[in-house]
Amino acid sequence: MEKADTPLEQVRLEIARACKASRRKSEDIALIAVSKTHPVEAIKPLLEQGHRIFGENRVQEAQAKWPALRERYPDTELHLIGQLQSNKADEAVALFDCIHSLDRESLLKALAKAMDKAGRRVPCFVQVNIGEEEQKGGCLPADLPTFLAKVRAADIPVAGLMCIPPADIEPAPFFALLAKLAADNGIEGLSMGMSGDYPTAIMLGATHVRVGTALFGERG
Ligand SMILES: *Cc1c(COP(=O)(O)O)cnc(C)c1O
Repeated sequence: MEKADTPLEQVRLEIARACKASRRKSEDIALIAVSKTHPVEAIKPLLEQGHRIFGENRVQEAQAKWPALRERYPDTELHLIGQLQSNKADEAVALFDCIHSLDRESLLKALAKAMDKAGRRVPCFVQVNIGEEEQKGGCLPADLPTFLAKVRAADIPVAGLMCIPPADIEPAPFFALLAKLAADNGIEGLSMGMSGDYPTAIMLGATHVRVGTALFGERG
C-alpha cells in the first residue's frame, strides 16, 4: 500500500481510499483537523502544508490560539466541535465559521440572539444523541423533526447533522442511522467520523470528518 510522508498526507490518502471504495469524490469530504489541546506550534505545520479547516472544542482555548494564526492565514475555517454553553454564544458566533453542537432549545435561542446581534449567520450542525446515551449531549432522534423546525424558524442555517457514537462498540450502525435521519429530514451535511473510524463514516455518507489524534498525535 501507498505510504505518505506526513500524517496529513496519510489521512488524505485514507480519505481518498474510502471515497474510491464508495464511489465518492474526495473534494466532497471536509477534513476538520481537530487541534484541541495542541499548541500553535503543532498547528503551524498543517497550515504550511496548505490545510485550512480546523476544529476546536472550547471557546476560550480557540480565542487564545486562533486570532494570531488567522491574521497570517485569513482563509482558515474554524469549526466548534464541542459542547457550547449558552452564555458563550456571542463569543462562539464571533469566532467560529461553523458550530457542530447545536443540541437544545436554550442554546438555539442564545445562538439566534447572538447571530442577530452580530449580523452574521453561522451555519450549525444539529447534534443528535444517536446512541440515546444518558450522559451525552444531543437531540434525541425522536425529537429531531420538531427541533429542526425550530432551528429553521429561528433562521439558523442548518449545515447538517452531527453525532458521536457510543464508545467501544462498532460505530457503523450509528453512522447509518444518522445518514437515514438526515435523508428523512432533507439534510445533506453529515459530521461524523473521528480518528478511529473516519473511513467507515465516509463510506456511510459523512461530508465532514473530525480528525485529531491521527493528525496531531495523542493529546497530553
Ligand atoms: C476530540 C474530538 C474529535 C477528534 O477525536 P480524535 O479521536 O482525536 O480524532 C472529534 N470530534 C469531537 C466532538 C471531539 O471532541
